[in-house]
Parts: sequence; structure tokens; C-alpha cells
Amino acid sequence: MADFLGAQDASASRPATPTTVSELNLILVGPPGAGKGTQAERLTEDFGLPHYATGNILRAAVADGTELGLRAKGFMDAGELVPDEVIIGVILEALQAPEAADGFLLDGFPRTVPQADALGEALEEVGRRLTAVLLIAVDDDEVVRRLSGRRTCAKAGHTYHVEFDPPEREGVCDTDGSKLVQRDDDQPDTIRRRLAVYHEQTEPLVGYYEDRDLLRRFDGSRPPTDVHDHIRATVATLRLEDEL
Ligand SMILES: [Zn+2]
Repeated sequence: MADFLGAQDASASRPATPTTVSELNLILVGPPGAGKGTQAERLTEDFGLPHYATGNILRAAVADGTELGLRAKGFMDAGELVPDEVIIGVILEALQAPEAADGFLLDGFPRTVPQADALGEALEEVGRRLTAVLLIAVDDDEVVRRLSGRRTCAKAGHTYHVEFDPPEREGVCDTDGSKLVQRDDDQPDTIRRRLAVYHEQTEPLVGYYEDRDLLRRFDGSRPPTDVHDHIRATVATLRLEDEL
């Protein structure tokens, strides 16, 4: 007991130093069907990081009626791609939120090397930098197998798989009871096309971030829990390295 009190006294007499929390600014990369959403959810819980999926924060900006949101809406309503500068603006706005002060997990952007360049410059301008880029690697055949069996809750986007992760009742979301649908993106003939786009446009990011010593690769063909354990351990180490 005396030792315990002594230790307490010693810690109390230490000069108050500001607690510096190292930032975990992470990007999640991988082909469609690699399980990025699942891993993002788990990492968000592990490290308290906000998860910014590009589509979600764009929709949020539109719903909030921010200046950038309105610009984005103009392009979306016209059926055009939202330009990189608008997306980056929305991302930077999201990063100003207190919840992102210790880091963030960005998912769905960048998808191309020019976007990666633009994002890197934009982060630098606000005094931040990437901590790591987490690649979840899965081969094409496995992607097709996974995606064509995927079913998505129409209400909140909860995902299931007819083979690997079926809902308790077929066609119904366990969480909110809404109908499960097969998204257009998950139709077999669409998947190969999405993979071709990934290989052509996004896969060059692997070399790009490898050159910058930011890439961390994970075997996405393993069960989600294994992938999660591996990523969590790696990210915990990154934070530790940053604090030393
Ligand atoms: Zn649901």
C-alpha cells in the first residue's frame, strides 16, 4: 500500500506536460470487395478515428448545404463526376472537425495518382501528413466470388453475404429489418469492369505510396478477423513509432 501511495505521489509531483497525441491519418486502399468497409468499422472502434468514406461525406456536405456541398450537388444532379478539387475541399472540411483532431480514416479517395498528389498537397497546406496507407490485397477471382454474393440493406447500407455472412432471415437486415438488395455494383458483369478500372487507375497508388514509405500491405484473402488483427497491430505500432 505504501508503495502504491508513493508511486501516486511521484506521478503527482511530475511537471504537467501537455499530452501530445500523435495523429493517425490513414488511407484505406484495395479493390472492390476487399472488405474495406468492415475493416474501417473495426478500426474506427479500435482507435476512435472518424471514418470518411468519400460518398458519405459528399452526401453529408450536400445535405448540410455547405458551399462545397452545393457545388458537389450541381455535378451530381447533372450526372457528372464531382471534380477532385471539390472532393478534396469536402475532405479538408471534414478534417477540421474536432473528431478528426487525432486522425482519420479515409476510404474511397484517392483513387488515382493525380488525386493522391492533390490530397498530399492539400494536407500539407493544413499542416498534416499521412501516417500510412493500408492496402487490403485480394485477387480478382476472390473479389468476384465475394461481391456477387453480397446483399445490402436498403435502409442503412448494412452488408451481408449469402454464403459467408447470411442474415438470420433471408433477404432481411438483422439490424433494422429492412429489405436486402443486390446493388448494381455487385452484379457479376459489373464487377469485372470495376476491377479493370481499379487495376488501371487505382493500383498505381500502391507503387506511389511504396515510394513514399507509407504503404502497409495486408492479405485480404484471409478471414476478416485475421485481417483486422493484423491491421490493428500494425496501426498500434505506427502510433507507438510516432510517439517515440
Ligand atoms: Zn440495415
